[in-house]
Amino acid sequence: MIQKFDFLVIGGGIAGMSYALSVAKSGKGKVALVCKTTLDEANTAKAQGGVAAVTNLDVDNFEKHINDTIIAGDYISDLAAVKHVVCNAPNAIKALVQWGVEFDKNGKGEYDLHREGGHSDFRILHHADDTGFEIQRGLMAAVRKNENITVLENHYAVEIITQHHLGVQVTRKTPNIECYGAYILNPETQKVDTFLSKVTLMATGGVGAVYAMTSNPVIATGDGIAMAYRAKATVKDMEFVQFHPTVLYNPSETHPAFLITEAMRGYGAVLRLPNGKEFMQKYDERLSLAPRDIVARAIDHEMKIHGLDYVCLDLTHKDAEETKRHFPHIYEKCLSMGIDITKQYIPVCPSAHYMCGGIKVDLNGESSISRLYAVGECSCTGLHGGNRLASNSLIEAVVYAQSAAEHALLMVDNYDFNLKVPEWNDEGTLTNEEHVLITQSVREVGEIMSNYVGIVRSNLRLKRAWDRLDLLYEETEELFKRVTATKDICELRNMINVGYLITRQAIERKESRGLHYTVDYPKHAYDQQ
Ligand SMILES: Cc1cc2nc3c(=O)[nH]c(=O)nc-3n(C[C@H](O)[C@H](O)[C@H](O)COP(=O)(O)OP(=O)(O)OC[C@H]3O[C@@H](n4cnc5c(N)ncnc54)[C@H](O)[C@@H]3O)c2cc1C
Repeated sequence: MIQKFDFLVIGGGIAGMSYALSVAKSGKGKVALVCKTTLDEANTAKAQGGVAAVTNLDVDNFEKHINDTIIAGDYISDLAAVKHVVCNAPNAIKALVQWGVEFDKNGKGEYDLHREGGHSDFRILHHADDTGFEIQRGLMAAVRKNENITVLENHYAVEIITQHHLGVQVTRKTPNIECYGAYILNPETQKVDTFLSKVTLMATGGVGAVYAMTSNPVIATGDGIAMAYRAKATVKDMEFVQFHPTVLYNPSETHPAFLITEAMRGYGAVLRLPNGKEFMQKYDERLSLAPRDIVARAIDHEMKIHGLDYVCLDLTHKDAEETKRHFPHIYEKCLSMGIDITKQYIPVCPSAHYMCGGIKVDLNGESSISRLYAVGECSCTGLHGGNRLASNSLIEAVVYAQSAAEHALLMVDNYDFNLKVPEWNDEGTLTNEEHVLITQSVREVGEIMSNYVGIVRSNLRLKRAWDRLDLLYEETEELFKRVTATKDICELRNMINVGYLITRQAIERKESRGLHYTVDYPKHAYDQQ
């Protein structure tokens, strides 16, 4: 089946929905928004902290937000992208509010601003501690109400369409590669449909699921980055994977793993080995209160040298009632696993959290492939450089969604659907009866990435990951050619692709910078141990 839309949006998180609302407002054409599960399942809905924007010019200013972002990014952020996001952030907040998103206010009717690690001022807008859920709720309501937007849930984008599908040989050196839409798996027929579009937006979110443990939901398999890369788009900064230092260690709950907020260390929780010994004194004088990346690396190092699956957070010295009052959600969660956090240690480990790199885009959010834009976590605007400043990702998604929409609306009339794009060819393929091959390979990708391309890397570990991924790649490509396309095999292919990109770009970076730490090019003494 062939379907035609002026604007095709792949992804229904903050990035996809903000863009869809912005282009739909113009009434300039039909918009389709596809997402691979239900609209409420997105990384966006998991965000807790908030959204960074300078809204109180009496005390804060753009210059400070710009500096904080550049320092966090270890001085390799793209200055133009940083200025673009910071200076357009207040307008992006206004747009969110107009679409129906609510942020907490104080008694004077002003935004109740929080301050987070790395920010020199109070500039984090939030909605209690479930800001992402509120954003997803507000945007979903606005999108569902908008008559120009067709929402297609459980529709899985398999591949984007370029000249390659018209029989032209496309390489990474081919100039003017164009995107004509995407092949999308229809949940009712289980057939791959052809969606032709004048403009396509990739907004498929993060990649956490390529690691064995992640704070991201299962959808975060990096599909958009892999699709764009296969279509020969430029993909950048993939070595910069942010790890959250403390999720609850629970082997039966890994995607998403339950987040143990960093506020708990602020409250006085102490990191210990399971035998009770403290270890942070070896790494940083701020002990358990050291910044996120230092704590994550320290925990990773202790786990590796002692062969542990987890370390512990100790709150047992704190007043039990106060602990329950501060962290009711965490208390209940741990209790459901038989752990009373007022009397017992909490087992914690680091987990993959955020991808700073992705599909390289310009200030209009356009990728190196014409008619293909990328926004949100799947994109690489240059804002984050080597490390993301807390709460800068949601705001980046809205600012770039608006820029991409503006540019796409200017360009859309130059494009048409008059191309003979062949339908998806699954002739001769079989239904896959060997599902175990896929589940086992998915597990292997997670193990390879966590063990060899995790928080602390080395040339040897990266080489081993490369070799293992190569083997999985060969096996999976062969299977993919033989079987009918399903979401599972496509996700596996994409995860291998993304794993490969992280590994290759990590090998290429011959220094420890930002989130990329390697013992072969150390920054701190303990990396050499
Ligand atoms: C626990 C947690 C806490 C966080 N806290 C904060 C915070 O406080 N502040 C902050 O700024 N950031 C935070 N982040 C990061 C932030 O939430 C994400 O970076 C952001 O929400 C990503 O939005 P997105 O629209 O790019 O992707 P997502 O919200 O993940 O949406 C991706 C969409 O793409 C769809 N999709 C994916 N692949 C396909 C496919 N093949 N076909 C069709 N559809 C597809 C999915 O179905 C989904 O609809 C947090 C992240 C996590 C996990």
